[in-house]
Amino acid sequence: MARILSGMRPTGALHLGNLMGALRNWVRLQDANECFFGIVDWHSLTTDYADTQAIRESIIEVACDWLAAGLDPERSTLFVQSWVPQHAELHLLLSMVVPVPWLERVPTYKEQQQQLQEKDLTTYGFLGYPLLQTADIIIYKADAVPVGEDQAPHIELAREIVRRFNYLYGPVFPEPQTLLTETPRIPGTDGRKMSKSYGNAVYIKDTPEEVRQKLRPMVTDPARKRRTDPGDPAVCPVFDLHKAFSSQETRDWVTAGCTSAGIGCLDCKAKLTEHMLESLAGIHSRRPEFARRPDTVWDILREGSCKARAVAEATLGEARAAMKLKY
Ligand code: SF4
Repeated sequence: MARILSGMRPTGALHLGNLMGALRNWVRLQDANECFFGIVDWHSLTTDYADTQAIRESIIEVACDWLAAGLDPERSTLFVQSWVPQHAELHLLLSMVVPVPWLERVPTYKEQQQQLQEKDLTTYGFLGYPLLQTADIIIYKADAVPVGEDQAPHIELAREIVRRFNYLYGPVFPEPQTLLTETPRIPGTDGRKMSKSYGNAVYIKDTPEEVRQKLRPMVTDPARKRRTDPGDPAVCPVFDLHKAFSSQETRDWVTAGCTSAGIGCLDCKAKLTEHMLESLAGIHSRRPEFARRPDTVWDILREGSCKARAVAEATLGEARAAMKLKY
């Protein structure tokens, strides 16, 4: 049984991109692995340190989405990062041995600074974010971390840091492996990547009626202007969603009907909505229960954080001892 670690920032309610890109995979992973899933609230501060108002509420939103999607606190450890302060101490210890250029060359460092120019990301915390992520992973001695391709360089960095630590002080940490997750393309309703900040997202917590309303005006193949024009599913974002949610039979029906102008886009979207709602039915029935009982959800996170702390403290003890810091 491998030990798996992954986390999400509490940025508010999760959307279908989060569900299909990560959460569904996590739910599968917990069947055969020992899983630790963290709501990494300190990571929100690396880019959003100036606005911390919504973090508390966002933690609950994320936790309700996790539980509704099927993460099971009986089988997986669900924790809040800042309730396991050992992450911070390990981050500090690692910061003593990691050269700054290692962090500066992480691709997302420069990319995000450019993308988020309205924010001042010249901070120490933002530079150190992949280091904090390394601490998050290795404090549980995780064997593997499920990530999308964009995050793979961070795991490579974590491995490099582990090698440096182990070389200097002796073998304490295993090198975490990257568990590359095949992520289906989940476009938002405007055809761009689904993202909260683009205002194009369908949320896990959206009601069936809200899902219908969002999908109806969704962008399609731009060349298909009239009902009588044939379309091309290969360039249509609605078809990308069919690939994620619909059966092969329906996808064949769409391809035949679209390319021959035999079906209209509204017919196509209605079919998509039907499949999507079918796929989300379990989540839709479970989520309101959790949302109604935030105290229970906090208790689940509290209990998970307590379990996580015990594991993290044991590892940290080994790291302190290896560094001759046990007095
Ligand atoms: S019929 Fe479907 S796949 Fe074809 S253009 Fe319209 S929405 Fe897209």
